[in-house]
Amino acid sequence: MVPESLTEALKLLAGTPRPVPFAGGTELMVQAGKIREAGKTKEAGDYLFLHRIPELQGIGGEGRVRIGAALNFAGLIGSPLCPPLLRRAALGIGAPGIRNLGTIGGNICNASPAGDSLPPLYLYDAVLILASLGKGGELLYRRLPIEDFILGVRKTALGEGELLAALEIPAASFSHEAYEKAGARKAQAVSKLSFAAAALVEGGLIRDFRAAFGAVGPRVLRCRDIEDSLQGAEAAALGEENNLAGEIIRAYGERLRPIDDQRSTAEYRRTVCLRLLGNCLRWLGS
Ligand SMILES: Cc1cc2nc3c(=O)[nH]c(=O)nc-3n(C[C@H](O)[C@H](O)[C@H](O)COP(=O)(O)OP(=O)(O)OC[C@H]3O[C@@H](n4cnc5c(N)ncnc54)[C@H](O)[C@@H]3O)c2cc1C
Repeated sequence: MVPESLTEALKLLAGTPRPVPFAGGTELMVQAGKIREAGKTKEAGDYLFLHRIPELQGIGGEGRVRIGAALNFAGLIGSPLCPPLLRRAALGIGAPGIRNLGTIGGNICNASPAGDSLPPLYLYDAVLILASLGKGGELLYRRLPIEDFILGVRKTALGEGELLAALEIPAASFSHEAYEKAGARKAQAVSKLSFAAAALVEGGLIRDFRAAFGAVGPRVLRCRDIEDSLQGAEAAALGEENNLAGEIIRAYGERLRPIDDQRSTAEYRRTVCLRLLGNCLRWLGS
């Protein structure tokens, strides 16, 4: 099924059996391979292809940035409107072939702890726009912060009959932005962990500080209470010899509870996350 509009897609989505939304297919094709290996099949008609729906494409907006859910990573990276940390994360996804097909909406709806777009989206307080059809066939939209959308590993708050239409990133200004992904290689590597941070330092004072850690738990870790504790602090107080940075690192250390798995150990994840945080705090203090 290849709908040409959002309304048509949502009508088809209400069909029985319910078709599976297919954006770039980079995740679904891996899953289909596993289904085949298990000796089962899935027909093309079971999928709802999203690539021809104009409402799900593009990036635009003034102040806040609106990104269509079916925009692929190559399109995102190429846009001057793409927020810097999201671009950094997108550049680290797969390799060019995956970035040409894989979409931001697919990355979000996949709800993998290693989804690389997620830490910047948490950091930027992204709001998701979910579309459905009302009883009279009219388009309905509901808005949900990304933190409330991702409920756990591969679990989201997407309702029956809903599609992720777009996301919005509110305007914010930062003087410092940092992003790092640790993987086994530079390309085609699932994250062992990732770290995104942004701060606004004005007149020597910290006006805004945010940090998000990916692949260290079922969901991205962001601790607003720790972030708030830095509001108004003197940036110089984060210098190497000072206690403030140590306190912040200790506070995050208590919240970071990564696991051991085939990609990395809990100890590696924790150590690298806290070192990246420490580097970032020293940068703010320098
Ligand atoms: C070789 C390889 C390397 C990879 N490397 C990385 C990497 O480095 N970092 C990373 O984060 N990921 C990586 N991935 C995973 C994948 O490419 C990304 O998660 C990608 O963003 C998925 O997007 P997609 O459009 O291909 O999703 P799809 O496969 O089309 O869909 C994924 C899921 O989202 C649902 N979905 C998609 N769009 C919507 C929508 N608009 N509304 C509702 N549901 C929707 C689908 O039904 C499906 O459940 C890699 C995958 C492969 C095969």
